[in-house]
Amino acid sequence: MPILQAKNLYKTYAARGKTTRAVRDVSLTLELGEVLAFLGPNGAGKTTTIKMIAGLVIPDEGSVRIDGLDPHNDPHALRSLGAVLEGNRNVYWRMTAEENLLYFGALRGLPGADAHARAVELLQRFDLLDKRNATVQTLSRGMQQKLAIAVALMHRPRLLLLDEPTLGLDVEAAETVKELVKEISQEGHAILLTTHQLDVAEEISDRVAIIRKGCIIAEEPTQELIRRFCGTAYTIEVGGEISPAQHERLAELQALVQQQHIEFLGDADGLWQVLEILKPLPLKHVEQDQADLTEIFLRLVREGNDG
Ligand code: ATP
Repeated sequence: MPILQAKNLYKTYAARGKTTRAVRDVSLTLELGEVLAFLGPNGAGKTTTIKMIAGLVIPDEGSVRIDGLDPHNDPHALRSLGAVLEGNRNVYWRMTAEENLLYFGALRGLPGADAHARAVELLQRFDLLDKRNATVQTLSRGMQQKLAIAVALMHRPRLLLLDEPTLGLDVEAAETVKELVKEISQEGHAILLTTHQLDVAEEISDRVAIIRKGCIIAEEPTQELIRRFCGTAYTIEVGGEISPAQHERLAELQALVQQQHIEFLGDADGLWQVLEILKPLPLKHVEQDQADLTEIFLRLVREGNDG
């Protein structure tokens, strides 16, 4: 059974006479050990979806199950859930690192002795042991973010919701947090990650779901999505002059010709047709476009933007 099953979620907000259909028919599932990157432009409906999963916003329609339990009706569902939702605001700035861990451990029902041992284990794990007695406000942003994740892990939840875990961190701190996220998932936790940093999503997610205007427009394994989109664009360079007849036939295939360079968007069969037209000109270079997640994301999100 997947640790998370969100099915056909809908949410419409009504404020000051204006209704916003924030989420429309969104379904997400997540297995243990998996990192799902949930991506979308501003206002696409990510936070609303995550809050419905966390039991903080009631869906108009649809259902959420965490480890088979409904977070909207059964508080036990929250035992399997840890969340860092709004940056590092889930920690108290005037309390020390250790006090935060113990406090949130107690809130999640961890017995005292267990909580102490778990706090030390996490402080060690996150390289924060020497900061255990430092108040949060004196920690660096990277340390605060690590502590926020540690706090969310205190009660050993199996599903972790992480909202922008690397936002505002310097390169080194971001690397550390990315490594930790990878490790946590490899230990068997499921992680639902929202981020605007697509390189982060590409690096640490197993799957991506892209939401646009409240609807999921793509969902598949990260590498498959990249593979599917890479190879759809080719650059060709020839060693001679392209004739008017060749120009005409290339235009029929929607290939863009600039002197001796041809840009072609299409599949491998189409590429062979282009090469056939170019015969017998010498081929100097043929290259497949190496798409990355940023490019794919922009393409998908822009497609049908008037819709
Ligand atoms: P961002 O990346 O900017 O955080 P998001 O993808 O998380 O955006 P949401 O915060 O879920 O998007 O917002 C989706 C839509 O719902 C937006 O149009 C937003 O203005 C609207 N919305 C969100 N919360 C409320 C609310 N409490 N009342 C009214 N409208 C809301």
